[in-house]
Amino acid sequence: MIATVAAAVEGLASAAPANVSGLKILVSGASIAGPALALWLARYGASVTVVEKAPTLRAGVHVTFAGTAPRTFDLVVGADGIHSNVRRLAFGPGHVRFLGHYYALADLDIDGEGVTYNEPGRMVAVGGPKAQTFFVFASPELSYDRYDADQQKKLLIDAYRGGGWRIPEILAKVPPSPDFYLDSISRVHIDDYAKGRVVLLGDAAYGNTLGGFGTGLAVVGAYVLAGELHRAGNDHLAAFRRYTELMRGYAKVNKNGNAGAFLAPRTKRGIRMRNLVFRRAALFGAMMWLTDRFATSIDLPEY
Ligand SMILES: Cc1cc2nc3c(=O)[nH]c(=O)nc-3n(C[C@H](O)[C@H](O)[C@H](O)COP(=O)(O)OP(=O)(O)OC[C@H]3O[C@@H](n4cnc5c(N)ncnc54)[C@H](O)[C@@H]3O)c2cc1C
Repeated sequence: MIATVAAAVEGLASAAPANVSGLKILVSGASIAGPALALWLARYGASVTVVEKAPTLRAGVHVTFAGTAPRTFDLVVGADGIHSNVRRLAFGPGHVRFLGHYYALADLDIDGEGVTYNEPGRMVAVGGPKAQTFFVFASPELSYDRYDADQQKKLLIDAYRGGGWRIPEILAKVPPSPDFYLDSISRVHIDDYAKGRVVLLGDAAYGNTLGGFGTGLAVVGAYVLAGELHRAGNDHLAAFRRYTELMRGYAKVNKNGNAGAFLAPRTKRGIRMRNLVFRRAALFGAMMWLTDRFATSIDLPEY
């Protein structure tokens, strides 16, 4: 994975005009933010390596990998999601606040198209756009192994035990499911997105698991970070400062939403109120208008 992505990106870099030329930049994470940043940095002439599933980062920017020799980079970008390893290594543990709900995605082969069922504190959607089966449930914070799918399946089954509608049928299909993912709905809290030569981007810096705008933030963040590095030449500290200033204000769009509370309200009344928003065109329109307003509340510089 390292070689494939790095070769592709380095190919792009060599074809581009050299502006941030000479800078060797490691981007950890190849989902939304990482590749978007790599594309812009490569266009500006930087030498970019993107890794997916890198193991440990040592102090500074001397990097060790699981299957290849250590290398040294000028800058390291943590675009490795809400549970960022780069953030943990460079900024220490913490920074992620649990918001009171969990979600799970599973491919369970259940009949049904775009049907959502709610009861207080629990939601199941079948045949929706996110996954074949999508669960959101309220819970106290749970302690579990993030890499143990069987343990997580058990947590999910416990959380939905006694549920109505087709929940018993759905739960029966959970244990053998090969494609299963469970995580908390959480938000990242960090004041400064950079430390020395390490900078955070996308969910790693301002993620809010299901806030509805994480992809937009990741792409805008990538554009701004690459543009500021390009503009500042080799002064990465000035670039990181300006990136943090610009994105800190804009990322507020992600700070107040809690999709868990919206998708799986804890009370019957909460479910009724939520449904009202969808039924009344004016309320839904107002929600969309507000979302649009927040999403466009940044004056993007031309770099
Ligand atoms: C169920 C669900 C629905 C969503 N719906 C929407 C939506 O409708 N609209 C929207 O805008 N946003 C939505 N989001 C949020 C959106 O997916 C994220 O905000 C977005 O993916 C963030 O992109 P990212 O690149 O910063 O991080 P991520 O997408 O989390 O990617 C991080 C990448 O880093 C990799 N990685 C992790 N650890 C390491 C490591 N140690 N070394 C190297 N690589 C590593 C991961 O494998 C992954 O590829 C949704 C999220 C979820 C969970």
